[in-house]
Amino acid sequence: MYRDSDVQSSRLTVILACLLLTVAPIGLGRVLAQEMNVIASPQPDSVIAIVGGNLIDGNGGPPLKDSCILVRGEKIVKVGKRIDSSIPQGTEVLDVSGKSVLPGLFDSHFHSRDSVEQPVEFELHNGITSFRDPGHPFKYYRTLLSSDATIPRVFLCGGHLDAPPVVWPDQAAVITTTEESRQAVFDHVDRGASAIKVYFRLPLEHIRAACNAADERHVPVTAHLELVDADDAINAGVIGIEHITSFGTTIATQDQVEQFKSLVTADSAARGEWRYRLWAQVQIDGNPRVDELIDLIVERGVYVSPTLAVFERRAGKEDATPVEAAGFKNMLSFFRRCHQAGANVVVGSHTWAPLAGPGKAYLRELELLVEAGMTPLEVLTSATKTGAEFFGVADRLGTIEAGKLADLIVVEGDPSKTVGELDRVSQVMLNGRWVGLDD
Ligand SMILES: [Zn+2]
Repeated sequence: MYRDSDVQSSRLTVILACLLLTVAPIGLGRVLAQEMNVIASPQPDSVIAIVGGNLIDGNGGPPLKDSCILVRGEKIVKVGKRIDSSIPQGTEVLDVSGKSVLPGLFDSHFHSRDSVEQPVEFELHNGITSFRDPGHPFKYYRTLLSSDATIPRVFLCGGHLDAPPVVWPDQAAVITTTEESRQAVFDHVDRGASAIKVYFRLPLEHIRAACNAADERHVPVTAHLELVDADDAINAGVIGIEHITSFGTTIATQDQVEQFKSLVTADSAARGEWRYRLWAQVQIDGNPRVDELIDLIVERGVYVSPTLAVFERRAGKEDATPVEAAGFKNMLSFFRRCHQAGANVVVGSHTWAPLAGPGKAYLRELELLVEAGMTPLEVLTSATKTGAEFFGVADRLGTIEAGKLADLIVVEGDPSKTVGELDRVSQVMLNGRWVGLDD
């Protein structure tokens, strides 16, 4: 058996029992991805109208000025121009003229441990209504899931799958055979995992076994890579790539890759320095390996979660070396090419980033995506609709449309022109209820 010291709390058992009842197979065995927590609903007949705002609905089209969004109970029931909308008697009306309304944001890469404050302060209060932790064990979320606080939708993967010598023994499901890999996937999904994360020492054949098992349970596999090449992992069935650095060994020269892999195989800590050394030397333009990899990413619909803010190194800042600054520059260039080619991009904060203050890593990531060539509106679509697709919840979340759940945010100014305006979230609605931002 693989080793996983994670012991389930009774709260999680209750949630899981609910999930087993509510997550029924749909159609041809498709299962809807489910958050770990039950989100409180308002009175089913309560009606709220949010009027006058600049509506950025998540679908990527131009914002709708002077909009009206009607929310009944937990659902959005009508969206249109204010002038065309009739507001029923007894409706609570909120005038947000001069502000923008967006779907609640998705953070595809958030980690916390035994914390209520970070998911609330860093995420929910900054407009992130759904996050996924790619790879921390369920036990790290007992405190959060059993708290009375209003928290975002919590999507978990369970402990990441890794092979000895594992980097994070307390977090990993330690895998030594393909059968253990399959079993870990089944166990995680049984406990509520809506995705599976594979980590960088897991060999390719065990990644493939995990992907096949995950496919049987209709959950996606997402990967942090250093030793296995991204094209091999994608061909084995991985659909999400966490961290821009995960692409390095596919596009570098053979000599560079051999040196990098032998150093990292011998010592996991070497990757901190050597991934920058690798990326500083990598050639982006006119490199057929780059073109082939990007073709594969686009053809397979791979979700790229670059977490650029984690790797940001700038000359003259925070003691960055010239090699680190050059490596980061190439990471931005490679990402730009992925985006230009039409890759699915999602936004992950990684909770902390070196050049962002506490709770600002997600915002920094948005700004870097713009720096790397996305328009602000494209970034907002990544942060909402594409995020919901990656989480497997696009049927009920990710855009502001009739029939969707009312997770939405009100922002001062117009983030479709300047994403930095998302630093000014003034109201957050989760499942049709306003969240108290001063709590
Ligand atoms: Zn991570």
